[in-house]
Amino acid sequence: VFNFCAGPSTLPLPVLKQARDEFFNYKGTGMSVMELSHRSKVFDEIIETAESNLRTLLSIPSNYRILFFQGGGMGQFAATYLNLQASKYAHEKRAKLGKELVCDYLVTGSWSEGAVKECKRLGGNANLVIDTKDSKYSHIPDKSTWKLSPPEETAYVYYCDNETIHGVEFDPDAVTSIVDPSVPIICDISSNILSRPIDISKFGVLVAGAQKNMGPAGATLVIVRDDLLERPQDVVPKAVSQLPTVFDYALFAKAKSLLNTPSTYTIYMCGLVYKWVIDQGGVEGMQRLREKRSGILYDVIDKYPDFYHGFVAKQNRSSMNPVFTLPNEELSAQFLKESQELGMVQMKGHRSLGGIRPSLYNALPVEAVEHLVKFMEEFYQKHK
Ligand code: PLP
Repeated sequence: VFNFCAGPSTLPLPVLKQARDEFFNYKGTGMSVMELSHRSKVFDEIIETAESNLRTLLSIPSNYRILFFQGGGMGQFAATYLNLQASKYAHEKRAKLGKELVCDYLVTGSWSEGAVKECKRLGGNANLVIDTKDSKYSHIPDKSTWKLSPPEETAYVYYCDNETIHGVEFDPDAVTSIVDPSVPIICDISSNILSRPIDISKFGVLVAGAQKNMGPAGATLVIVRDDLLERPQDVVPKAVSQLPTVFDYALFAKAKSLLNTPSTYTIYMCGLVYKWVIDQGGVEGMQRLREKRSGILYDVIDKYPDFYHGFVAKQNRSSMNPVFTLPNEELSAQFLKESQELGMVQMKGHRSLGGIRPSLYNALPVEAVEHLVKFMEEFYQKHK
């Protein structure tokens, strides 16, 4: 089947085959990777190779740590806020300002909305730079309307690069080009990581759940700049004492992600995917494919706009998670039923939005999208 699931999503076939071949007896150990101690030399090699391949793929500068957590992308809603609050950087800035710092959020869909809710839940002073909820998260407003807080008062600026549910994606430098360089930018790249080049040096923290473009569910990647790991020397601010150990970036950096038992098997699978991406021409190779896949699909949506209604503003449309509706829910159900019979599965839109969402992640063959658009043409002719 062709699997269009938004996550956990399809994995590259060669990766699954390699995992199958190594399943019972990993490199002559007589054990599955699942059975290896995370304190063993063999696992050390697995995680170190995964990290170094990812560093190569994303050109991650040497002053950034690569960490693997549990707790999912959602866990990072809290972890990003708490770690930044606990940093020496924020501590000194707070002291100078004489009051709490503002946390700036760009709210462009459910995932950034979730992050801001978590910040507020933990007592954070959140400012909404933009919030497009009233327009059903269908566009990213012009930069001239963004209400960024003054840099000297801002703890960080947070945004989600690709809103998986609403199908809205930022241009690569949209946020980094406007935020004052003294303010760390936190970016959720869960659903478009490794699909195009990204200038890591422009960010303070990047987070991504594994289960879309990297591997199975169970691990969350954090890429964090070294200086944000520093803590105040003289005092232990409340922010540090409130930070759970399992979310503490500084402790994880010191322990090289092995503070407690990590998701060993997921990390191993991510490592296989990183190697596969390198073999496909790296993120530049992935970018060419992503443009091809999304180009083919959006062409059909644009050809029959009254039938396949793509409600996201053209310039903000996601290449990973295109979303569209049909004239009514009965037709949507029929579309899903007929496409499933032809082997195209898990395309149902998110329960909060309805419609259709064929996710086009890295591992989805272009052939899958060719099948889909052929079906869409036929379905249109039948039901127009
Ligand atoms: N951020 C984005 C962009 C997501 O797509 C998701 C999940 O789909 C999350 C965060 C939450 O991730 P998790 O389900 O791993 O907590």
